[in-house]
Amino acid sequence: MNPNKLIYLDNNATTPTDPRVVEAMLPYFTQHFGNAASRNHPFGWEAENAVDKAREQIANLINVDSREIIFTSGATEADNLAIKGVFEMYAKKGNHIITLKTEHKAVLDSCKKVEKLGGEVTYLDVNREGLVDLEALEAAITDKTILVSIMFANNETGVIQPMKEIGDICARKGVLFMSDATQAIGKIPVDPKALGIHLMAFTAHKMYGPKGVGALFVNRKNPRVKVTSQLDGGGHERGMRSGTLNVPGIVGFGKAAELCQTEMSEEAQRLSGLRDKLETELCKIEETYINGSTENRMPHVTNISFKHVEGEGLMMTFNQNIGVSSGSACTSASLEPSYVLIALGLGDDLAHSSLRLSLGRFTTDEEIDAAIEQISGGVNHMRDLSPIWEMYKEGIDLDAVEWSEH
Ligand SMILES: *Cc1c(COP(=O)(O)O)cnc(C)c1O
Repeated sequence: MNPNKLIYLDNNATTPTDPRVVEAMLPYFTQHFGNAASRNHPFGWEAENAVDKAREQIANLINVDSREIIFTSGATEADNLAIKGVFEMYAKKGNHIITLKTEHKAVLDSCKKVEKLGGEVTYLDVNREGLVDLEALEAAITDKTILVSIMFANNETGVIQPMKEIGDICARKGVLFMSDATQAIGKIPVDPKALGIHLMAFTAHKMYGPKGVGALFVNRKNPRVKVTSQLDGGGHERGMRSGTLNVPGIVGFGKAAELCQTEMSEEAQRLSGLRDKLETELCKIEETYINGSTENRMPHVTNISFKHVEGEGLMMTFNQNIGVSSGSACTSASLEPSYVLIALGLGDDLAHSSLRLSLGRFTTDEEIDAAIEQISGGVNHMRDLSPIWEMYKEGIDLDAVEWSEH
């Protein structure tokens, strides 16, 4: 394989749009361009029918009623709508929300906003595996708690939380359960009704659909859940989210959901095989650690730390020819270590030296072989040049070294 050919292993950041999805979308730009809210002519009806079909395709993927799907501009907006919308809607019942320290920023920052508005938020720790402590969760619920927001699968580590157990606790305590399921939907089976999830955010561009369209699942019965709209206007989406629907985007989202439904089990099997190969080969390098639970994890993701090899530097050894993520994708403009890895208890030596490798539908065997070669070569090269690594190998306790400042 040409060493300069780009390899994409950052599918947790975004996935390429499947060509079959693009094909389904195209007629809705120029031919069937109607506004789905135009009720009195065929242009509108055509658009509305296309939206209805997509709503069904998406609802089918997660085994819910199509009336429970509220279209948004993506998962960020769906997270905002769920958290701020529940906070406003259930203000009479209480003002307390529980979430995890390892959530996506869309959830954490929505919670921060809720705190500014007078709400109280508990940010639960996770253990070394990245998993919530169910007893701590239960103990944190008070009579003021209105919402528990815990993500399905983590975007950095792929760690899957015990959703059914969390759902059972929420049901027993009578609090709503919201989940950011962006990283799980379309990759593994997700059935919110069976798990006791009442609100669930996800997005098309992480499941081979287009960017700029997502959804919030809102449970309609037992209990009937409502959220206060955060965008006000024409009263679209049952009054929960106004704005002219992105018809081509929604059509693409629907097609993407349909493809995932038929292809995901085979795809997951293939990708976990490739991921395991990648992981096994990279773990042959000494002082290499996998971050987060390897038992409760998405099939296509690995998060690996190479001790004393700084992630950004490592990426330069292969000229950024492999699209991967070091540290937190969303803050990777800064060189702050990932707050998710810090929450898992990693020290600086490992938190700064992590790579997240996320495979996808279009990842090939050859690409994985090339990635193994380039990443292994890069780690060895970095260590050969590193005085820190040399000291470490000589058995010097680096924590005890007094580094002088000039
Ligand atoms: C990507 C991602 C989001 C943001 O989704 P957008 O559609 O890009 O707004 C939210 N949560 C998680 C877990 C994600 O991975």
